[in-house]
Amino acid sequence: MSPAAFRLTALGAFFLLVTASLPGAQGAATPPGPAAAPAAPAPLLRAAPERPARSTAALASTSFGGIDHVSATDLAVWLGCTGAANDSARKFTLTDKNNPANRAELNADGREALVNGLRVFLGSPVLLRGGKLYVSRIDAERCLAPLLRPAFGGVVPPPPKIIALDPGHGGRDDGTENKELGLKEKTLTLDVSLRLKKLLEAAGYRVVLTRTEDRELSPRKEIDLALRASFANRERADLFVSIHFNAATKDTQGTEVFTYAPRMQHATDWWGQLTRDDPDLETGEQPANRFDSWNVALAAALHRQLLQTLQTEDRGKKIAHWAVLKTLNCPGVLVEPAILSNAAEARRAARPEFRQQVAEALAAGIRDYAATLDSLRPR
Ligand SMILES: [Zn+2]
Repeated sequence: MSPAAFRLTALGAFFLLVTASLPGAQGAATPPGPAAAPAAPAPLLRAAPERPARSTAALASTSFGGIDHVSATDLAVWLGCTGAANDSARKFTLTDKNNPANRAELNADGREALVNGLRVFLGSPVLLRGGKLYVSRIDAERCLAPLLRPAFGGVVPPPPKIIALDPGHGGRDDGTENKELGLKEKTLTLDVSLRLKKLLEAAGYRVVLTRTEDRELSPRKEIDLALRASFANRERADLFVSIHFNAATKDTQGTEVFTYAPRMQHATDWWGQLTRDDPDLETGEQPANRFDSWNVALAAALHRQLLQTLQTEDRGKKIAHWAVLKTLNCPGVLVEPAILSNAAEARRAARPEFRQQVAEALAAGIRDYAATLDSLRPR
């Protein structure tokens, strides 16, 4: 998947609005088959939460580089954790007072945290200033809190009943390829999605797919991506999983999971570039940002199950401005279970047993996420 291909341009968004308003214009996005429900007018946005996500507003704030930060020590107290720095003060561990297995490790000058054993990329580096570590307020509220204290996420979404699966690419868009093995991403993503659909339906969910055959939703990439999200919205999906396979260097392997970036945060893969411009940086709140906390909770559940089942390398939970997630009306995640440019992983992905494992891991992750939501509802 090329990041550039996932950018939703302003022009594309305008075209989408125009085409979406034409009668029958979105009909092309509805796949045939029993999963497709009669078109019903869906509200553009879900109602605003009655109870907002818990904020760090009560904590002292320090601005570094124009970004609000809170101290790791204050953050630990806010999260109901004990906080411990190592001797150099460069590492800080937050541990749940009631459940020592629930913990996070933060490192000075790094964006990479280890949360409950999973590699998680923060939107901004953790900073060491005056012998103390500081975390950006956005990361505290929209990354670490959803992982360590999902109850801080505010109104709990309804139990998932309708699940939208998005087999990445299709039609003229092959996605990434492994030419030696004759593998195309678009074929693998559809195969995994159909396997997952079967598993989820057996578990009682209604499952809708953005495509059930080898086709694109629009010849224009940015419109195709936005149509996938609007399809899920129209089907009133309760959660959305976009399924992809990755491409990188020959030596790179492993599993990645993405959520839509919180507002004012750069994509994980933007960092390290020489330029300071980020054309994809979103300064305003996007529809997907209403679910920042739940996107992260869903991502964590899928991330954990994928790694446990596939035993792949953990390339981390990342953020990006994926157009396919941007306008969703429900929590959504994009998964990249394996990397096709790596010979060993491509050989695994070529086997139906591996793709079944991917589907089973995702089904288990969705089940875990639903259980998390259940545990957060008042009894
Ligand atoms: Zn892709």
